[in-house]
Amino acid sequence: MIVMKIGGSSLRSVESLQQVTEIICTAPDAQKIVVLSAVSGVTDHLIKSVRESLQTERRIRPLLDYLRELHRELVMAVVTDSSLRRHVSDEIEYLLSRLEKLLYGVAYTGECTRRTWDLIVSMGERLAVQLLAGCVCSRGREALALDADKIDVVAHGDFGYGNVDLEATARLLPQHLNEPLQRSAIPVITGFFGRTTEGHTITFGRGGTDYSAAVVAYAMNSRELQIWKDVDGFLTAAPDMVPTAKPLEYLAYEEAAELSYFGASILHPRTVEPLAKKRIPAVIKNTYSPDVAGTIVGPDKHQKDEVIKSVVANRKIGALRIHGASLGQQLGFLKQVVSALSEAEINIISVITAQTAVNFLLNKNDIPLSQRIIENLKIPYIDHLEPLMDVALIGVVGEGLVETRGLAARVFTSVAAAGANVEMITSGASKVAQYFVIKENYLQQTVQAVHAEFFGAP
Ligand code: ASP
Ligand code: MG
Repeated sequence: MIVMKIGGSSLRSVESLQQVTEIICTAPDAQKIVVLSAVSGVTDHLIKSVRESLQTERRIRPLLDYLRELHRELVMAVVTDSSLRRHVSDEIEYLLSRLEKLLYGVAYTGECTRRTWDLIVSMGERLAVQLLAGCVCSRGREALALDADKIDVVAHGDFGYGNVDLEATARLLPQHLNEPLQRSAIPVITGFFGRTTEGHTITFGRGGTDYSAAVVAYAMNSRELQIWKDVDGFLTAAPDMVPTAKPLEYLAYEEAAELSYFGASILHPRTVEPLAKKRIPAVIKNTYSPDVAGTIVGPDKHQKDEVIKSVVANRKIGALRIHGASLGQQLGFLKQVVSALSEAEINIISVITAQTAVNFLLNKNDIPLSQRIIENLKIPYIDHLEPLMDVALIGVVGEGLVETRGLAARVFTSVAAAGANVEMITSGASKVAQYFVIKENYLQQTVQAVHAEFFGAP
């Protein structure tokens, strides 16, 4: 059995829908499960719909019309059988009418709770599974459109950041899927969300379909997880910064998780968690060039001699430096700051501490608000706060990096040769990655220099 995750970027046109349908139908495995994202751009559109409905109900109609038109055009082109087309269109209309009621609710009450938000943004995936299942059926294979919250993908935690209960899901999900799989029907399941124990829809964060697919692979004991995207997998660096970056054949789970957490937007960072528990390999494949091997993400630590696998960069990360003469000795201080920031739902990416300063790595967008929050705490031993907005983060990822003597020296020699100054370092926090912060205007040349040190000059 195999689980295939299809990303939104593979669902953006008639041709791409036909292409993924072909990929699904010709996969050699007897039993296949598809886990699907929303059509490209739809989740963003739903988020915009909530925001605009909070302003005025007058926007609701045109917002819905856009979604109706987008899906209708695709259905007309890819669902060829007329009774099937009617069925799919009816399902889509039904979902849009539910969405309409929810948006009017938001407009009339002037609020959108986290729970309602999750329900509204889940509509993109619900629409997509109807569309793709119709497309697969038109090609003569039985496919079933299924909503994850109705087939017991069980999760807990805060709305917007759900964590799947793997054991409960592994117990319940097969009861819904075994029978259709036995007759070789293809379940097409919504990614991105599940249900809480109380039965409410809960999402897993942006890009969460990768995680959903890993959960389904875990629960169904899939032999492999295929992740179909519009890129050839992980590369030795971001191609917009290093045009000569090469594709990576293999990454260990931890390496892929670090790369995803800090920079490469290829995988949802939590995807590897369920996979690692059962040593299920994932392979990242390109829908638009399916013959390219892609990157395998799996349990083996070393498949190659080179330790360094990839150099990532992230411009969105900035730092907030807290100065104070004896901060390092104030035990309760970190706790106070961290809880105030998490109450405001600010994600702390990393913390780098010293005796006289503590640095919070945050998304640049979050820095002004974080600064205000911390200032309002009026902590006596804080001297002043210094936002660092003109910085960026570089990460060097590879299993064995921390143990390998001389690697850090090579990294920092090449940084210096690029003319950049290292502002901050995290070292040893992760066994497979080393991160450092430099001035943003040196980013590209520094990434290129570090990349050239390990992968050769272009
Ligand atoms: N559609 C959701 C998003 O855009 C989930 C996903 O694509 O994985 O974030
Ligand atoms: Mg998406």
